[in-house]
Amino acid sequence: MTELRKTLERVAHSIHRRGLTHGRTGNLAVREGDHILVTPTGVSLADVSAAELSVLDADGRHLDGPPPTKEAFLHVAVLQSRPTAQAIVHTHSVHAAALSCLADLDQAQPLPPLTAYYGMRVAPLEVLPYFAPGDKAATEAVQQAATRSHALLLRNHGPVIAGSDLESALDALEELEHTAQIFFLTQGMRTAPLTEHQLAALQPQTPQEPRP
Ligand SMILES: [Zn+2]
Repeated sequence: MTELRKTLERVAHSIHRRGLTHGRTGNLAVREGDHILVTPTGVSLADVSAAELSVLDADGRHLDGPPPTKEAFLHVAVLQSRPTAQAIVHTHSVHAAALSCLADLDQAQPLPPLTAYYGMRVAPLEVLPYFAPGDKAATEAVQQAATRSHALLLRNHGPVIAGSDLESALDALEELEHTAQIFFLTQGMRTAPLTEHQLAALQPQTPQEPRP
C-alpha cells in the first residue's frame, strides 16, 4: 500500500467528517507517477479505501481498480492544464454550492476578499457555466479556466480545487467554503473586504502550486 493511497483515504474521510460532502457526492484525484488515482463511483467519501481506488492514465483512460467517479474527467482536465498541480478535490459543499446558484453572481469576483486566508489560498475563483453531471462538454471550459486559476466553481454544482498535494487542495476548498459561509452570514450588512494593498502584501500561507 503506497503512502499516497493512504493519504487519499485519510483526506477523503476527513472531508466527510468535516461535513464538506453529503451522500455519495465528492471525489478526489492525485497524480501517482504517470497515472492518476481517483475515488471510485458510487462510494461515499466516508467509505473510501486505499485498496479500492481507480487508476487512470494521464488521458483519463481506466487502467485498474474499480470504475472511477463519473466526474473523473473534471480532475483529468484540470491536471492536463496545470502541470504543477498534483491533486484535485471536488465537493458539493453547501455554502460554495449555494454561491454557485446565485442568479446575480459576479463572474469577475464571485466572493469579495473578506479574509486574508481566502486571498492566500483561493483567489482568484473562476466561475464556469452549468453543465449536467458527467457532461464531457465541460472538459474544454474546465481546461481553459484551470490555466487561469487552481480554484474553479461550477455553476449550480460546486468547487473543483487543485493543489500541490491533497492536503493543500483540501485547505483551499475548506477556506472557500468558510468564506462563502461568511459571505452569506453578512448578507444585508456592510462589510470591509481587504483592500488591494492588503491583498498584495499577503504571502501564500501554505505550500500551494507556484503562482503563474
Ligand atoms: Zn460534482
